Amino acid sequence: MSGTDIIYLDYSATTPPYPEVVRFYCERLLASYANPASTHQLGQEARKTLEQACSQMANLLDCQPREIILTSGASESINTALKSFFPAGRVWSGGLAVCAGEHAATRETAETLARNGVVVHTFGLTATGAIDLESVAAALSEKPLVISYMLVNNETGAIAPVAEIAGLRNKISPRTKIHIDAVQALGRLPLSFKQSKADLMTLSGHKFGAPRGIGLLIGRKNFAITPLIAGGGQQENRRSGTENPPLAEALVLAMEKAVNSAAAESERIAGLERQLNALLFVPGSGLSPVCTATKVPHIVSIRTPGLRGETLANALSAEGIMISAGSACAARKAAASPILRAMGLTDKAAREVVRISLGRNTGANDIEVAAAALLKVYNQLSR
Ligand code: PLP
Repeated sequence: MSGTDIIYLDYSATTPPYPEVVRFYCERLLASYANPASTHQLGQEARKTLEQACSQMANLLDCQPREIILTSGASESINTALKSFFPAGRVWSGGLAVCAGEHAATRETAETLARNGVVVHTFGLTATGAIDLESVAAALSEKPLVISYMLVNNETGAIAPVAEIAGLRNKISPRTKIHIDAVQALGRLPLSFKQSKADLMTLSGHKFGAPRGIGLLIGRKNFAITPLIAGGGQQENRRSGTENPPLAEALVLAMEKAVNSAAAESERIAGLERQLNALLFVPGSGLSPVCTATKVPHIVSIRTPGLRGETLANALSAEGIMISAGSACAARKAAASPILRAMGLTDKAAREVVRISLGRNTGANDIEVAAAALLKVYNQLSR
């Protein structure tokens, strides 16, 4: 099967990098190789490049350049953000509040912290896929040090009620800080760190067309980060390790493209989502949408009664159509998706779900071919 025969509908797992960004990155890797910590001329130039890249990111994200920490990706950002509240050897004056339907990076971090004695307050999702605000209020009444949630759910596409959560925090527990995992939102929704009312925000380059291996943690000025990685004290002691200015520049280029095309792209993708829904969710097809909450159009999660999502995704893969059963991280795990379980799906139902996620190279023909193949395979294999 050649690359051109492939229909890639797994943008939420990772987005193909922009070819021009990869070319630019390779050129810059060769040209700007000095260590930005070196005091000689080349080192200083590399430092300037890095600072310039952070300023450009800050402009695009509506934050201060000094509030940006460059990491290896969102998992590192989330670990750094949440663990910063609970440094070893201190008594903590509150716990951690997380949604039961979080990405594994948050859930596993919460579990590690719980094993170290941190009290974790969990809030839920409703059957529609939305964050359950009553349980958010209950979690906040425990006065946690930090509350963490996803802006766009990576499996269902549900959009979190940012203003309502900030409002509840202000009313019930004003000292609680907010961490937002905005990984699936950049390039899909307008994103402003300031307006989000978050104290910390996580992003990942490979979800919006940058090369893999770079992410951001944005932390409000004066927020004390406990570094996850100790060493040479780079990035003002918040994350050690030699910085990679060309990768930061490549990230800026991808971010500019993703942010600047977001409005037009969401409209285009909303049209593709309508097309997909009209083809799949017809009487007698047996299929239904998993998420009925307010959602982004690029993630479509589908209930496939009587057929495991994994079986369907594998059969479509053999036909050159790449989709996921749930999220890519969960796909290799034995347990059913905790996100779908948090919505109240039974273990069996949660395994009978596939996720289609669309992006900049997806066209109407891809939707038509993929929907026809999905219906065919589902009819053949479901019982
Ligand atoms: N958070 C969300 C919502 C994600 O979708 C992902 C990736 O699947 C992550 C965090 C982890 O991102 P990374 O692969 O950059 O560590």
